[in-house]
Amino acid sequence: MMKECTKCGGQMIDLLIDYERNIMGQKITIPNVEGYRCEKCGYEEIAPWVEKRLAVKVLKKQLEIQKDMPAEPITINKLKTVRKKKEIPQKLIGEAIGFTEQRFGAVERNENTPTVHLANQIASVMNVNVSDIYETLYIPRDFFLELLNMDSNFEIIEGLPELREEFQKWDDRHNVIKNEMRKIRSKARKIARETGKKVKDPMTLLPEETRKEFEQLIEENKMVLEQKEKLRKKMKPLKKRSILKQDRIIDADTWERIKEKFPDRITLY
Ligand SMILES: [Zn+2]
Repeated sequence: MMKECTKCGGQMIDLLIDYERNIMGQKITIPNVEGYRCEKCGYEEIAPWVEKRLAVKVLKKQLEIQKDMPAEPITINKLKTVRKKKEIPQKLIGEAIGFTEQRFGAVERNENTPTVHLANQIASVMNVNVSDIYETLYIPRDFFLELLNMDSNFEIIEGLPELREEFQKWDDRHNVIKNEMRKIRSKARKIARETGKKVKDPMTLLPEETRKEFEQLIEENKMVLEQKEKLRKKMKPLKKRSILKQDRIIDADTWERIKEKFPDRITLY
């Protein structure tokens, strides 16, 4: 079978190649992958049928890397930059996607996160790819946590770090409670299964003590949820001032300012 090189039109020969990829700043190599190499220009390509297998391998490698490298994903919103470059008025895009200018403006300013459908629709009317307007990249976790509490002048938002910390404590407790409750419920189902007893509520099969424990967990859970809700409300106006919108999104202009201000804190993955 003759295969033509997409780069130079030369002839591609079948052989095993080293598949190289950059994952979060680290070059990884998966050796001996079925593929082709151009005799003329040396361009290499993997065979289409190994792509499926490779995707899983690459993801597993990424998980390994992520384990030893504390990083967090953020998304750069380049919507405005791309729109201005193409000189398309907000109003026109709004009209094309059935939004008012104000509503589209809110999406552009990261006040509203578009759904997958909407992001695609916007990209389509601007004749670009979604990745051209929303780019996701990884930054070091410690820097990410700092950005979360910073306003657009790079000042720490007063009170926010403390509220976040407190929220985290309640959230951790919430997870412990949920886990305990899950364990008790599954214990009840196990008893029902093993004894073959047909009851409407398997929880009634549990010893009195365990049921009491479960009741207490329900009560505590309610209290924890209330605390979380209270803190969420307190944090809301402060989070609005954060340089990271919706905890993960940043507009392209601000991102440029961050890169200028903290050149040595940013390692891009
Ligand atoms: Zn070639």
